[in-house]
Order: sequence, then structure tokens, then C-alpha cells
Amino acid sequence: MRVIYTDQYDLNLANHIFPSIKYRLIKEKLLRDQVVGPRDIALVHSRDYIRKLQAGKLSYMEILRLEIPYSPELVRAVWLSAGGSILAGRLALQDGTCANLGGGFHHAYPDHGEGFCVLNDFAIGIRRLQKDKAIERAMTVDCDVHQGNGTAAIFGGDPSVFTLSIHQENNYPYPKPPSTLDINLHDGVEDAEYLDELGKGLDQALSQFQPDLIYYVAGADPYRDDQLGGLKLSIEGLERRDRLVFEKASAKQIPVAITLAGGYARRVEDTIQIHTNTIRIAKEFSK
Ligand SMILES: [Zn+2]
Repeated sequence: MRVIYTDQYDLNLANHIFPSIKYRLIKEKLLRDQVVGPRDIALVHSRDYIRKLQAGKLSYMEILRLEIPYSPELVRAVWLSAGGSILAGRLALQDGTCANLGGGFHHAYPDHGEGFCVLNDFAIGIRRLQKDKAIERAMTVDCDVHQGNGTAAIFGGDPSVFTLSIHQENNYPYPKPPSTLDINLHDGVEDAEYLDELGKGLDQALSQFQPDLIYYVAGADPYRDDQLGGLKLSIEGLERRDRLVFEKASAKQIPVAITLAGGYARRVEDTIQIHTNTIRIAKEFSK
């Protein structure tokens, strides 16, 4: 069953007798309890790590490694992101494409988080959809400027998941556990070379492996004006990147679930433009 919701249902009436905050709280509770329970998170993450996250028992070093402040709100947000990526996968199977306007937390490992990533939302999506027998095989196409180390570690040695990562080699993370296919780019790569490498990589991956679903990690940080990236793609080049991913997938009738991942442009408007372009182009490929 689908339900309908928008944050704008909340009238922000503070202490008024009409409890308009209920809309948001119901949505959050449904997502937490029904869509993604601790058992779903445990399909990817260690029980010890989940317990520490929920109880606020991460060590100082573990919090430092996350590089974002720990709070109960953070745990709630990443929990909801995991639910969002499960839903995005499920709806992509029906509609051809679907986007979680969040997630893409590819640096999260089974037993720890790092680099702004607490839970690997789309890895949880893959495991949950496999468990539901909605899919057997999945592919991750990770176009964030940083390598998908957590995803590579989670699915390493699992023949049911193909991980593709195209990224700047000379950048975080270190080390980089091997993806099924890593495309290591040198600093300063521009549109034409990037698109050529990505096209070849996708052809190679899709000739070797036939997934039931692709999770597209559509990072905005390969952008030339990104503060944490060292590639030189233009906004138009990133649009062509998105289109390339959807075209290659659609040629083989493979549904695509999108997660946003990173984006640290000097002007936040550029990050927003890059991400909204991805969603607009995805819509062209939905049924
Ligand atoms: Zn990134």
C-alpha cells in the first residue's frame, strides 16, 4: 500500500490543540517501525554497531571518524534514509526509476561509519529486497567523486551484487577496498574523458552481469567547483552522466533507484541544480 505525505502538512502550530506535528511523527514512526526495523539494518550492519548507535555509546574516536556530530536526530535521519532507499528500490521495480532525495551513504561499513556516512542505506535496500525475493541480483553504480569503500567492503566476494565505482583516485577514502569494477580517474578529469570512461565501464559491467535493479549513487561532487572533489565536470557534463546511466540501464530494461550522495559546491545552488537535474532526467525514463 502507498501512503501520501508532505512535510507541509505540519502547520507548525506549536501548542495549539490541533496537533499538526502528528503528520510528521506518524510518517517517521511508520518508516522506522514498518519499513525499516533493526532487523533490516542488521542485514548490513553489525549488531554491536547498531546497539552503540541507538544507545549513544559510540566512542570519541568513532564519532570523530564520522566527521559529523552525533545526536539522536542523526540516528533518526540515517534510519529514515535507509527506509527511503528501501522504498526507492521497491518503487523503481514498479515504475522504472525512483529517487530517494537523500541517502547514498557509501562510506558506511558493517561495523562503523565514516566520512559523513552512518548507515549504508542502499546496501540495506539491496539486502532487504533480496530478502523479500523482490530481486536476486543488484548493481551499484557509484558516480560520487569519492570511492564507495563501505559498499565495496559490504559486498566484496558476494556474486549477487556487482559494485561499480568511478571516482578520483587521489582523494578520500584511503584505503579503497576493491569494488567489482573500480574506475580510478586522475585529478582534473573533464566531461569528455569522464563520460568515455563511464560509458566503457557501464558496458563492461552490464555485459558481465545482469542485475534486477541498479542503485545509482548520483553524487554531485565530481563538479569542477566542488570543495571536496578534484575532478572538473561541468553541470552539463553531469547531466550527460545521468543520462548515460539511465540510457544504458533502460536499454537492458533494468530499473534504477537513485540516491543523492555527496555535493559540496562552493555555491550550494549549484549542488541543488545538479541533483535536481538528475531527478528531472530520471523522470524521462520512468514508466
Ligand atoms: Zn563524495
